[in-house]
Amino acid sequence: MHSGSSWPNAQWVSGQNNNFMQYGDGNSTYRPIVSLDVSAHEFGHGITQFTANLIPGTQESGALNEGFSDIWAACVEHWAAPNKQTWRIGEELFTTTYNCIRDLQNPKSTYTSEGQHPDTYKGSYWDNNGEAHTNSTVLSHWFFLLSQGGTGTNDKANLYNVTGIGIENAQLIAYRAESMYLNSSATYTDAMNTTIQSARELFGNCSPQAAATINAWYAVGLGVGFAPITTASITARKTSATGEPTSYEYTATPYLGATYRWYVSGMANNPQQTDLINVFDWYFPCKTTKSVYCTVSNYCNSATSNSIAKTGECTRLNSFIVSPNPATNTVTISTIQNTSIDQTAISTTFDDVRIYDQQGNVKKYQKNNKTRQTQIYTSDLISGVYTIEITDGTYKERQVLIIQK
Ligand SMILES: [Zn+2]
Repeated sequence: MHSGSSWPNAQWVSGQNNNFMQYGDGNSTYRPIVSLDVSAHEFGHGITQFTANLIPGTQESGALNEGFSDIWAACVEHWAAPNKQTWRIGEELFTTTYNCIRDLQNPKSTYTSEGQHPDTYKGSYWDNNGEAHTNSTVLSHWFFLLSQGGTGTNDKANLYNVTGIGIENAQLIAYRAESMYLNSSATYTDAMNTTIQSARELFGNCSPQAAATINAWYAVGLGVGFAPITTASITARKTSATGEPTSYEYTATPYLGATYRWYVSGMANNPQQTDLINVFDWYFPCKTTKSVYCTVSNYCNSATSNSIAKTGECTRLNSFIVSPNPATNTVTISTIQNTSIDQTAISTTFDDVRIYDQQGNVKKYQKNNKTRQTQIYTSDLISGVYTIEITDGTYKERQVLIIQK
C-alpha cells in the first residue's frame, strides 16, 4: 500500500491477522520506493517470516533477515530484468549523488544512500550496535561472491579466491538453508553451517558448489576455506624416560573438522582410537616393535598417513619388586606390570636370579625360564645386607635385599 507522504522507504509489515507491504513516494533524494528489487526485498521478508522466521532487530538474525531480502531482490531482478544491475539494490531510485541503497558487489561503496557497509564479518563498517541493514551485507556479499566469484583480501587479511557457481545454483543453496535449517535466532555461524550443509546435500560433499560456498564464507571472514585432504602424515615423539616402559605420542597433520583413526600393527579390532589428532602414552613392551599409522577423513575425502615403527626399550631400572624386604626365610621377586599398547597388563620376563653378599660372592643362584615371578628360600642366609640381581641374559638389574633373622 501507499504510505504517508514523502516517505522515503518501503517495508514489510507483519501483523497478528494480516501481513502487508507499504511503500513511500520518496522525497527530493528518492523517487517513489517501488522498484522491482525493493518490492522483491519486501516480499523476501514475507518469505523469511514463513520459513526461518529470523527475528528482525539488532541480533544477527536481524542482519540475516535483511541480507536474505537483498538476496531475493537480486534473484528476482536477475530473473525478470537481467539487464538491470542485479547487485545494486534500488539503483533506479536515485537522480543524483547515490547509485543505489546497498551494493552487494561492493558494500563499502561510497555511492550508497545508506553509507558504507561491511564486506567482512565484524570488519570495517560492521555496526557493533547491530543495525540490521548495515550488517546484512556480509550475507548478501557472500551470496554475490558465491554467484559471481572473486579474489581479494578481506578485512581479516585473508586472501580469498572464490570460483562463482552462478546465481541459479547459489539461490538453491540459500533457499534450502533458509527454508529447511535456519531458525528464528540464527547467527552468521548458523548461516555458514547451514548453507554449507545445503550445498553438500544439493551438489555433493566435494563438489565445486560446496567448495565455493565454503570459500565465499571464508572471503567474508567466517570459517576456514575449502580444505580437501591431500596428504596425511604422522610424527612420533617419545614421552617416557630412558628404559621401560617406553611410551610415544603420535600426532597427525591437522585438518579442521577431520576425523582421525589410529591403527597399530598386529592388533585386533583396529582402529585403536578414533577422532583424536594426538594419541598419548602408547606403551611399547620391552623388545616389542609396533608400527602405527592413521587415516584422516573429512566431509570431502580421506588419506592414509605414513607408518612409524617403534620398539620398546628394555633397561629395567626399578622394574622389579622384592617382597618382603627385609626378608626372613623366603623372598618373592616379581616384575612390575605396565600397560601395553593394546591396554592389557604386561610385565617383563627374567631368567636368572642371583643374591650377592657385600664382598660380591654369589650366595644364591636360581635358574628360571622367562618367568615374571619367582620365590627364593633364604633360610640359610645370615642376617645382613645383600644385593639381589635379575637378568634376562642381556640386561641386569640390582636392588638391595636385607635379611633379618
Ligand atoms: Zn528490509
